[in-house]
Amino acid sequence: MWYNLTMSKYILSIDQGTTSSRAVIFNRRGRIKAIAQQEFKQIYPQAGWVEHSPQDIMGSVMAVTAEAVARAGILCEDIKAVGITNQRETTLVWDAKTGKPVYNAIVWQCRRTAGLCAELKKTHADIIYEKTGLIPDAYFSATKIKWILDNVPNARARAERGELLFGTVDTFLMWQLSKGGIFATDYTNAARTMLFNIHTLEWDEELLKLFSIPRAMLPEVYPSGHKFGYTHKSVLGAPVEICGVAGDQQAALFGQLCTEAGDLKNTYGTGCFLLMNTGDKAVKSRNGLVTTLGATLTGRPPYVLEGSVFVGGAVIQWLRDGLKLISSADESEKLSLKAKDNGGVYIVPAFTGLGAPYWDADARGTVTGLTRGTTAEHIVRAGLESIAYQVCDLVCAMQKDAGINVTRLAVDGGASKNNFLLQFQADILGCVTARPETVETTALGAAYLAGLCSGYWNSLEEIKNNVRAGKVFTPCMTEDMRKKLLDGWERAVKKARTV
Ligand code: ADP
Repeated sequence: MWYNLTMSKYILSIDQGTTSSRAVIFNRRGRIKAIAQQEFKQIYPQAGWVEHSPQDIMGSVMAVTAEAVARAGILCEDIKAVGITNQRETTLVWDAKTGKPVYNAIVWQCRRTAGLCAELKKTHADIIYEKTGLIPDAYFSATKIKWILDNVPNARARAERGELLFGTVDTFLMWQLSKGGIFATDYTNAARTMLFNIHTLEWDEELLKLFSIPRAMLPEVYPSGHKFGYTHKSVLGAPVEICGVAGDQQAALFGQLCTEAGDLKNTYGTGCFLLMNTGDKAVKSRNGLVTTLGATLTGRPPYVLEGSVFVGGAVIQWLRDGLKLISSADESEKLSLKAKDNGGVYIVPAFTGLGAPYWDADARGTVTGLTRGTTAEHIVRAGLESIAYQVCDLVCAMQKDAGINVTRLAVDGGASKNNFLLQFQADILGCVTARPETVETTALGAAYLAGLCSGYWNSLEEIKNNVRAGKVFTPCMTEDMRKKLLDGWERAVKKARTV
């Protein structure tokens, strides 16, 4: 009987993303029992600025949670624990008594503090990198908090009196879901604020002074797997414990079970996010990658090297909406397979410049190698291949920085359903690419953390034993061909570069 009762329990994972909120109910085997998703409004007050309404964030989270629970046909007693994963860096400031935000959430993409960050890059890049592992940028929360304190009437005075609180989305959600009972964050989210020292694992007094941010505004920081506290009974009908919190990319890394040094995953979305677990070694990058913290259940979190590709799946959107060569993203696979090779065509989709390892903001996209024989199939294939080449450049940079030889790349994200892309990725990297059966790795990572911390699962081994293998792509290209293609890519990148 007792066995049956525990068997029937589930983990609720809340995934609060940039464009939508999702709630996923996972069963003991790590499979999805029910899922609900709701998009919400993106607010663009002026060019380059991006905000979310805090009410929209909360409203969508509450709605999808209720919907997922209803779809699963379960009761709140059936939910063993809650995990949370979230868009990172997005910044909220609210009243410590009423919970009322003093301003909209300033979204990670928002460039309003780019000017200040350009100055900081000149004066404080070294110290910021030493302490936080980050390269000064408007993405990170620090300058967004400063902007709110400097621009919202009375905000600074109120913050100094201890009347205002700051949080990334995880902190805001926990505070709201517990009706003010929890004011906390986890290492993975704290590490993206540009205020957290990833070596001492504490908020950094010197950086707080630099950005004029009162310490009293900041939440307590814990490992990702931690008993943070209970949701208020009004949320699910009875209090349920929140036991796992991680920023989206680190949650995906954990969801892919990349828990050992050398494990890495790539998420193929609009852009690509590549994260490598480097264990207890904080690797300093010579290629402009950032160093951050990974999810853990106890003690010190692992260090993680992170890099991103600005234009990943977006190149397929361009082929579809800009060039109108395909009518759906899925079609790119069929067309690419029709061409027996790239026909000498390379696309470098440097639409907004080139990131790591090139760092050339003024570079622009190029299509090279066109001949009279070039077909739409060649161009589409070159578009898909360009995603793989960019990921390959990042993996090579990481391997060099970390001194680790990569043998397997775990993959997820919208474009990872493209089998041609994953096979080409394996070929060009010369290592296996592995797509799990459940590509909801972000929500799954938060669920694993909550499930392990609450005792729903006993160990990572138990989880690993339950994971059904997805699809593995093994390299089968000759070394000569690989070298020839990589040379071609290198030549194309040279043409796109300005420095
Ligand atoms: P995000 O989370 O960044 O919104 P998703 O993980 O939902 O992104 O992935 C969407 C991206 O994946 C889009 O850029 C789209 O062009 C691309 N995509 C979707 N399906 C395919 C496919 N079958 N082949 C290649 N790219 C695809």
